[in-house]
Amino acid sequence: MKNVDVKMDLPKLEEEILDFWRENNIFKKSIEQRDIKEQYVFYDGPPFATGTPHYGHIVASTMKDVVPRYWTMKGKRVERKWGWDCHGLPIENIAEKELGVKSKKQIEDEVGVAKFNDFCRSKVLSYVDEWKKVIGRLGRWADMDNAYVTMDLNYMESVWWVFKQLWDKGLIYEDYRSMHICPRCETTLSQSEVTEGYKTVKDLSVVAKFELKNEPNTFVLAWTTTPWTLIGNVALAISENIKYKKLKIKDDADRDIFVIIAEDRIADVVKIEYEEIESIEAKNLIGKTYKPLFDYYAKDEKLENGQNGWKIVAADFVTTEEGTGVVHIAPAFGEDDMKLGREKQLPFIQHVGMDGIIKEQAKDFYGLHVKPADDTQKTDVEIIKYLAAKNLLFSKEKYEHSYPHCWRCDTPLLNYATSSWFVKVSSIKNDAIELAKQINWSPAHIKYGRFGKWLEGAKDWSISRQRFWASVIPIWVCGDCGEKEVFASVTDLEVRSGQQIADIHKHVVDAIKFPCQKCSGEMARVPDVLDTWFDSGSMPYAQMHYPFENREKFESNFPAEFIAEGADQTRAWFYYLHVLSSSIFNKPAFKNVIVNGIVQAEDGKKMSKRLQNYPDPMEMFDKYGADVLRFYLMSSPVVAANDLNFSEKEMAELSRGLFRMIWNSYYFFVLYAEIDGIEAKTDFSLNSRSTLDKWIISECQSLIKNINYHMEHYDLQKSSREFLLFADNLSNWYIRRSRKRFWKSENDQDKAEAFETLQYILITLAKLLAPFSPFISEEIYKNLSGEESVHLSDYPEANESLIDPNLCAEMKRTREIVELGLNVRSKNGIKVRQPLAELVYLGEKLPEELEQIIAEEVNVKNVNNASAQEGEAVRLDLEITSELKMGGYSREIVRFVQTLRKKAGFEVNDRIILYYSSDSDVINQTLEQFSDEVSHETLAIRIENNKHQVENEEEIKIDSHNLWLGISREL
Ligand SMILES: [Zn+2]
Ligand SMILES: [Zn+2]
Repeated sequence: MKNVDVKMDLPKLEEEILDFWRENNIFKKSIEQRDIKEQYVFYDGPPFATGTPHYGHIVASTMKDVVPRYWTMKGKRVERKWGWDCHGLPIENIAEKELGVKSKKQIEDEVGVAKFNDFCRSKVLSYVDEWKKVIGRLGRWADMDNAYVTMDLNYMESVWWVFKQLWDKGLIYEDYRSMHICPRCETTLSQSEVTEGYKTVKDLSVVAKFELKNEPNTFVLAWTTTPWTLIGNVALAISENIKYKKLKIKDDADRDIFVIIAEDRIADVVKIEYEEIESIEAKNLIGKTYKPLFDYYAKDEKLENGQNGWKIVAADFVTTEEGTGVVHIAPAFGEDDMKLGREKQLPFIQHVGMDGIIKEQAKDFYGLHVKPADDTQKTDVEIIKYLAAKNLLFSKEKYEHSYPHCWRCDTPLLNYATSSWFVKVSSIKNDAIELAKQINWSPAHIKYGRFGKWLEGAKDWSISRQRFWASVIPIWVCGDCGEKEVFASVTDLEVRSGQQIADIHKHVVDAIKFPCQKCSGEMARVPDVLDTWFDSGSMPYAQMHYPFENREKFESNFPAEFIAEGADQTRAWFYYLHVLSSSIFNKPAFKNVIVNGIVQAEDGKKMSKRLQNYPDPMEMFDKYGADVLRFYLMSSPVVAANDLNFSEKEMAELSRGLFRMIWNSYYFFVLYAEIDGIEAKTDFSLNSRSTLDKWIISECQSLIKNINYHMEHYDLQKSSREFLLFADNLSNWYIRRSRKRFWKSENDQDKAEAFETLQYILITLAKLLAPFSPFISEEIYKNLSGEESVHLSDYPEANESLIDPNLCAEMKRTREIVELGLNVRSKNGIKVRQPLAELVYLGEKLPEELEQIIAEEVNVKNVNNASAQEGEAVRLDLEITSELKMGGYSREIVRFVQTLRKKAGFEVNDRIILYYSSDSDVINQTLEQFSDEVSHETLAIRIENNKHQVENEEEIKIDSHNLWLGISREL
């Protein structure tokens, strides 16, 4: 056994252990020593390497380390393949910035897609080294050298295979519909991407006046929060369930005009004087035509369905919750509008391009962006000015609402009719909901809450993106007859095209064309790329290049046992994994999942690099150690999907508390084990006769049982919190009470049993703690067991026959009585060193051995119990007789001698001669009467009343009495 420094320096220790792991391949050994048939499959969700890891990654990474380490120690073979997410807007946005590109057009026309993609590829892994540093220092074991990379050919080929499976099941279709698009990125986004970006913003809302064609000066009022869409207006929708009124008002030019509005909305909308003319039934309004606000498209005789436009129609989605009870319909810019447009065969006016810029036909507004980044209301203001000038504006006001923004570039999204490819989630939804019942969630409420609800509300998944750096949609279409071919592998495409293919990114495959088999036309690829979530949702298959390789390995190990990520992934990665596996295999993709919350700054605000309102993780490693940070996070609510306000103070407390207790216990053991020549070992008989030993062994078995139970239920917070109480029992009670058993000089059975017990407890504690705090546990285990590594050992199983609930309850009561007794002393200002005559406790009598413990801890001569009745649970006799007084003095003397021993630098087992001299009778009398106790406690072989010449001496005062003490070492 090597020496242990009383000073705990975890950061330094951790660096040494990292070296040890690396040099001895402990991670690899821990996997390979387990049976290949005992696989425990863990899927790692791939992060982007486009920035450095933050606390969110550290929480997830710790969870992804604790659980695999635990199951490895339980005998499983847990391979841990790391992954990198490479595709999509995050990296494209970085490339755009570095290349100085402002628009999508510039990429296509100036940079070129091939060069742009090459640039993306070169930037994707820029932060890998930084990640390796942080993740490595955290102590997380993951195979980062053989990581799966979503831009690799093999990975992308499996993605094609996944796509083809869906295609063959009829789950892929193309549709023209209203979607959310980002006008800056010029692409459609999926439901979950849109959900991610809602923000409260102020917009301008207007109530416009639509003049009825055959009733001059009669206007229908309609409200909108997107004035820029009014150019695309082709109808007004009303409801047959709503009552409308015609009112007479004065317009801005002081003329009498009539307006039509829902009766229920008058109070909120009409803030000027009015006269009620008549009630109008909706059916009498339906079919009436009105003059378009703008004539740009209305004049166009070639406009399809033009004859159906600018009429009042009925729709069931119209309500009187807000607005005027009349809805402005622009089919190109809204889901309901689009549906209604199809149903009523309305004209379709898309006066805005996908880049958000108003087209040429809308003359007065040509070239304006509908949501300019510098002032998002600018174009709406122009529209309002126009309406006001034409006397078509009824009112305008600022309007606060929640509006979706691009999750990448923060641009306000547009509701925009466009063509997109979809996965028909609606047709597998019921299966997916049924299969989701097999998944165990931690915390449990997410199963039917956040995840279940999202699943129930799932819409078809928009998988096509009009971008560049991504997996591509493997569909080729004939330009003439529309024939489609979908490819499931690179080989299939090579055979069909007669070309060798080494890369299947957009810039390569778009050039691959071949003749149609049905006609004389040419087949070319659908230009869209895939949503990046299609990549990450395919990872169970693609990381193994399934089904092209690893067929058997994959099939016998699917679904995964465990995954873990943040709560935001319930709508993203967790969801897409589940949708794809439900669709292809009719199985869930994972059996157990832990969901973490968000780590916020200490003040509850978002952690912000700019504001620097949180300490850098690397700084925490250097200051407290990764073990402490890991334990802090794992015992916090953040691992139960709740938010955590990161507190360095709490980390420091944990370091001074739990970790200090464990270290002190370890230090104490090694200190005395060395003196007695105790050897490192792993076999223990555990048949001690001592009550204390039996008690701590029993507590230890309960600890083992509880931690296993919580870990099997994937509850990290409850598992880790078990350590706190146990460490207190061990350090502040077991060792405190057992100290003298290790000190004493006789090598009797009791001392052997004490060593045996404490060594067993510390080794067991190290094993239990190993998944959570892998460094300190490695240090303790290696030193006390002599084995290679705690991470190569088996996780403890509880021996329930050693659990004695009765003893544990009695010991708990004993500690409580001691605490109450000490409280009485401190309230009365009597030092613990001053012996008292009696303590009486109420309730059932405790065994004598425990009463003896109470007597020693509270320092009373007698402990007695009385049957339960009114009064204090613990009573102390506070009278101090002269006999008791001397007892107190003897304790004081012992304390001074101990200090003197330490000052002199004596070893804990050195024997001494104690000299004293005093002019006080009571002190002399004390030393005569209590000489046995004093010499026993101070290891004095004799005590002499004589001011002997010694090196180590001290004049002290006890109460008002003078005393000279001197010691010399007996060699
Ligand atoms: Zn964007
Ligand atoms: Zn054809």
